[in-house]
Amino acid sequence: MKVAIINCGSSSIKYAVFDMNTREMLGSGLLERIGTQESRVRHRRRNDFGKYDEILMHAPVSNHAEGFEFILSVTAKMRILEDPNELFGIGHRVVHGGEAYNGPVLIDRKVTSKIRELIPLAPLHNPANIEGIEVALKRLPQVPQVAVFDTSFHATIPPHAFHYALPYRLYEEHHVRRYGFHGNSHCYVAKRAAAMLGKSIESLNAITLHLGNGASATAILGGKSVDTSMGMTPLEGLIMGTRSGDVDPAIHFYLLREAGMSIEEVESMLNSQSGLKGICGNNDMREIGGLAEKNDQLAQLAMDMFCYRLKKYIGAYFAVLGRVDAIIFTGGIGENSRVIRSATCRGLSGLGIVMDEDKNNGALGCEAEVQDGQSDVKILVIPTNEELEIADHTVETITALKNGAVQLKP
Ligand code: AMP
Repeated sequence: MKVAIINCGSSSIKYAVFDMNTREMLGSGLLERIGTQESRVRHRRRNDFGKYDEILMHAPVSNHAEGFEFILSVTAKMRILEDPNELFGIGHRVVHGGEAYNGPVLIDRKVTSKIRELIPLAPLHNPANIEGIEVALKRLPQVPQVAVFDTSFHATIPPHAFHYALPYRLYEEHHVRRYGFHGNSHCYVAKRAAAMLGKSIESLNAITLHLGNGASATAILGGKSVDTSMGMTPLEGLIMGTRSGDVDPAIHFYLLREAGMSIEEVESMLNSQSGLKGICGNNDMREIGGLAEKNDQLAQLAMDMFCYRLKKYIGAYFAVLGRVDAIIFTGGIGENSRVIRSATCRGLSGLGIVMDEDKNNGALGCEAEVQDGQSDVKILVIPTNEELEIADHTVETITALKNGAVQLKP
């Protein structure tokens, strides 16, 4: 049973194909630079030894429809999907589901127009996600397609945690509230953590830290999200590659008045010129780590700030949860940077969090427990797999429909 995952950006399409009987990813890839002469696909194919070979292919691709066709030809050539109509379903990653979707949904015209209505909440992401859905629906109309939202996992956050202390009518009239993102990643690693600890997901209390170029922390109580650091947009919360995370909102007005900046300039600065890049000029944690080792003061400051902000969220979510079974590191930085994990957990023994530095040093991109024997809280490193999480939701949604549990609307 094969399932394809599509994650469409404004000039890129990420894709993956899974065999859901074995839960193995057969191949995946990223088509980027759509609309230029330099479009290229970086494709990864599973080899006979269970490892992945990378193949780079170039072809001018002028739009997403051509891009989808190119991907189908690549996956056919690589023999991972010879006939796309054999697909059990396609799962589309959609960034914002607003309050409309607290779970995955089979895509029909009503769903696409609802996702379109939500564009003001995610102007950078939802338009590209819709483009991907429309192209795939047109090309493969007989394959069931499911929208899986980044926000849905956070639908369980209670009102006292999702409201901002702003005039209530802004929520009623303009849907201003915390939504949260990276839901598929937080959900996936929480389930893996429960399995690693031999607990049911319903009994797991955890703080999940998704640390990639975008970063967010989530408080998980009994397997459900009860708070998360990203807000109405992915700008709030932790320090990220180029996003500021939390700042005093009054700084914006100050910059308009005193620095002569426009609203657009402030918005772009907060999203793409801030975070790690704003402090040290670089948003790649690997390179920042290397610079800090060579005594680059600003690189060191950026790392210190990154870990300090994380510590504050861990402390806050500890108070929210009362009891914490595990702290989970994931995302490119969480999975690979022993330095960031170690600095984040340093000094938290008062909360029962004690790291074993040798175990931490040995955990690179694989599932591992890295806490000391005396630590009350488990410290876990878990590589995320958002695509597999989306594939699971896709299968569940289509299966429920086939079993008659859900009615497909025309
Ligand atoms: P992601 O968005 O999840 O792909 O994560 C990207 C981030 O992970 C970038 O800041 C990378 O520099 C960082 N990263 C990847 N590998 C390492 C590593 N070995 N050490 C430190 N940071 C890493």
